[in-house]
Amino acid sequence: MCAIYGAHPAHNLRLCDIAARPEQRIGSTAGKNPANVEGVELMAVVDEFGRGLRDVRVSVTDRCNFRCTYCMPREVFGPGFQFLERDELLTFEEITRLVSIFAKLGVRKIRLTGGEPLVRHGIERLVAMLAQVDGIDDIALTTNGSLLAGKAADLRGAGLGRLTVSLDSVDEETFSAMADVPMPLCRVLDGIAAASAAGFAPVKLNTVVKRGVNDAGVVDLAAYARDHGHIVRFIEYMDVGTTNGWKLDEVVPSAEVVRRIGAVWPLEPVDPNYVGEVASRYRYLDGGGEIGVISSVTQAFCQGCTRARVSAVGELYTCLFATKGGDLRALLRNGATDGELESVIAGIWGRRTDRYSELRTSETRTLHKVEMSYIGG
Ligand code: SAM
Ligand code: SF4
Ligand code: SF4
Repeated sequence: MCAIYGAHPAHNLRLCDIAARPEQRIGSTAGKNPANVEGVELMAVVDEFGRGLRDVRVSVTDRCNFRCTYCMPREVFGPGFQFLERDELLTFEEITRLVSIFAKLGVRKIRLTGGEPLVRHGIERLVAMLAQVDGIDDIALTTNGSLLAGKAADLRGAGLGRLTVSLDSVDEETFSAMADVPMPLCRVLDGIAAASAAGFAPVKLNTVVKRGVNDAGVVDLAAYARDHGHIVRFIEYMDVGTTNGWKLDEVVPSAEVVRRIGAVWPLEPVDPNYVGEVASRYRYLDGGGEIGVISSVTQAFCQGCTRARVSAVGELYTCLFATKGGDLRALLRNGATDGELESVIAGIWGRRTDRYSELRTSETRTLHKVEMSYIGG
């Protein structure tokens, strides 16, 4: 045993490093300087801390067929819960129009999420529409995997580039307890296999680690991922929303996960794939692949956060822990021009000062934060 862990290169980012990135100095909300990048007239914006707007997570539904206890506890999201009506959701055409405007503001990466994005009828059609948007070079999707077996090939064919499947345990009982759904684990495992067969390589797996619930299984998850050529990323349990009853002592620090896995298969840190990557990467010294850890609680990465979120009803959120978002749907449905939408989005981003995870205290926990299933994970 000789696990190498501890300080990771990705955690040493400073604001000045990020502000110095050339693509983020192209423009600002105060003085826009157009530039042509890959045929798109780029009006890149930066926020108050010099962070560019590079990727957008689009929630396509607030509904889900799982009731993960850390996200949509059944006591709250039960039969009486009022989900959004169909006509409240942005249409695929509205989403595509917004994405093309985001692209002009410097966004290159779109992730479709939810709720469970695969419960939205015709999601493959949306992927195909987004794949045509100039400037967008990376389309990804996060899913619980339960409907993936029947859709993976079509999603790939439509132009989906990357796929992340959430998988909290490879133990049947623990999986069911966490997802709180009477569904066999093999439904998700079959979905992951179908994704590999469809050409997604590697498939990334997301595991939320909760003390006393699934932390004993992190080595088994790592073994499963190693055996199948997937990359598993362990996420610290977060205080998103207001309904999951989050407690700090249920958070398993990423360093502990790295230590446990590294004790079985020694690990070493790897440089991030790009500046601001959320996961810290570690590779197995024996060549068995890599894992990632997302230390949102113990080592906040707000300094490199270039991500916006659009809810299923078209609100723009500049932080996962925000309490409110800007209503873009009203503009879309009331005849705003692309230029007007662009300047509203640029204005919201330009005023951004979010850094919740750096400021987290026992008091911030009680803020009326939007639910993760609504805003998109
Ligand atoms: N339903 C899809 C899924 O589960 O992959 C997409 C939406 S889900 C909200 C996106 C991601 O957020 C999932 O990987 C999930 O595990 C993660 N997530 C949800 N609640 C969380 C929490 N309280 N702390 C950390 N991650 C969480
Ligand atoms: Fe559904 Fe994903 Fe939330 Fe689980 S984490 S309840 S699968 S939206
Ligand atoms: Fe970004 Fe907000 Fe998360 Fe910080 S807390 S990394 S600003 S989403």
